[in-house]
Amino acid sequence: MATLTDLFTKDVQELENEGVLFTTLEKLIAWGRSNSLWPATFGLACCAIEMMASTDARNDLARFGSEVFRASPRQADVMIVAGRLSKKMAPVMRRVYDQMPDPKWVISMGACASSGGMFNNYAIVQNVDSVVPVDVFVPGCPPRPEALIYAVTQLQKKIQGKARDDEGRKLPKIEAWKR
Ligand code: SF4
Repeated sequence: MATLTDLFTKDVQELENEGVLFTTLEKLIAWGRSNSLWPATFGLACCAIEMMASTDARNDLARFGSEVFRASPRQADVMIVAGRLSKKMAPVMRRVYDQMPDPKWVISMGACASSGGMFNNYAIVQNVDSVVPVDVFVPGCPPRPEALIYAVTQLQKKIQGKARDDEGRKLPKIEAWKR
């Protein structure tokens, strides 16, 4: 058991061997935030059924701290856009996003949300990134719950600054304060 005087007399390696952990407040906050991402309930179409299934007993999104879907945007910090977004609905979605407290993140779930999918027409937004800033895109029609869970874990890495691109280069940490 390390004592207070040990902090001044021993080096970091010795203290870590004795079970003393060192970190920065920034890393600790990012760890806490990333492991308690609460999604705003925002199902738009069929993809929302898979989003709901991600919290059932089989898939259990609760393992990653994100099962608490909030009916109020003021209690949520991640928006999962699950389904096609009509142009009529876009201002409503932006308002919900604006009502979420900072910092906040967005996952675009499914082909429709990310690219309009099969709905290449005047009524559907062709990429929700033009309405809210997307951090993670999930491919598929619909993506399975496992794909959404993978997206949540990728978002956790981005928040902690541990995400890497396809070539293994470290990606910048995303703070997601007002943007
Ligand atoms: S991507 Fe497929 S499942 Fe999802 S909203 Fe579009 S049509 Fe429905």
